[in-house]
Amino acid sequence: MCSGRVDMAHILHAFAKGADGVFIGGCRLGECNYTTHGNYHAANLTSLCKKILEHIGLNPQRLQIAFMSGGEGNLFAATVDDFCKTIKEFGPIGQDDEIAPAQLGVALAEVTRLAPYIKIVKHAKLTARLEDAADYDNHFSLEEIERLFGDVVSYYIDPAKCQACMICSKRCPVEAIEGGKSQIHVIDQDKCIKCGTCLNACPSRFGAVTEIVGDPVPPPLPMEKRTILRTGSKGNKKNTSTKRALP
Ligand code: SF4
Ligand code: SF4
Repeated sequence: MCSGRVDMAHILHAFAKGADGVFIGGCRLGECNYTTHGNYHAANLTSLCKKILEHIGLNPQRLQIAFMSGGEGNLFAATVDDFCKTIKEFGPIGQDDEIAPAQLGVALAEVTRLAPYIKIVKHAKLTARLEDAADYDNHFSLEEIERLFGDVVSYYIDPAKCQACMICSKRCPVEAIEGGKSQIHVIDQDKCIKCGTCLNACPSRFGAVTEIVGDPVPPPLPMEKRTILRTGSKGNKKNTSTKRALP
């Protein structure tokens, strides 16, 4: 498969499944046959993932990328041989790493859940083209990644503003929004991948979705309080629970 097809999820999944190392081989930078130049993307992604591995306490050298042409079979064999020797010296994943094996699965699952959000936030750097492969070593910094995880955005639906129009729940790509007709909508924070689609989808006249950074997300509205009371022009009650004028 083209190195440009490698996704953060592939790398994280391999480590989560117990791989001691992940090696990505790509065509030489600037020599891609296609306009997409996916090998630059692979280089950016590997640079980002290395810092993420370091952030969670895994040795970033467990992930490596190398560039070579299809005619350099000897170089490929030597590079992979060196990589295997390096990984053998490190030992099984978690053995000499700063994170205990028992915590590794949880940390990788959390990063995997945030992968779409990370790709959106770091889109500009992930699509950059650095001509010198050595420049990718410092393309992302550890401080930057720590800030990224410290500033993770959460999305929250204000129950006082939600009009149950259902637009957000229809557009959420991972079905993280609970709700239905005349039901105040609620985001399942465990499912939310923080793509921000609901923020843009909620009509501005309602403005019910907000971004939260640094503060805890309020607890979800109890199920029994989610049904909206629709009151007509004469104020006659049409449903039971939370009182709301017709929008
Ligand atoms: S940010 Fe909104 S649309 Fe995106 S996954 Fe979370 S709840 Fe769904
Ligand atoms: S789009 Fe806004 S008003 Fe409509 S259901 Fe979602 S949060 Fe509520």
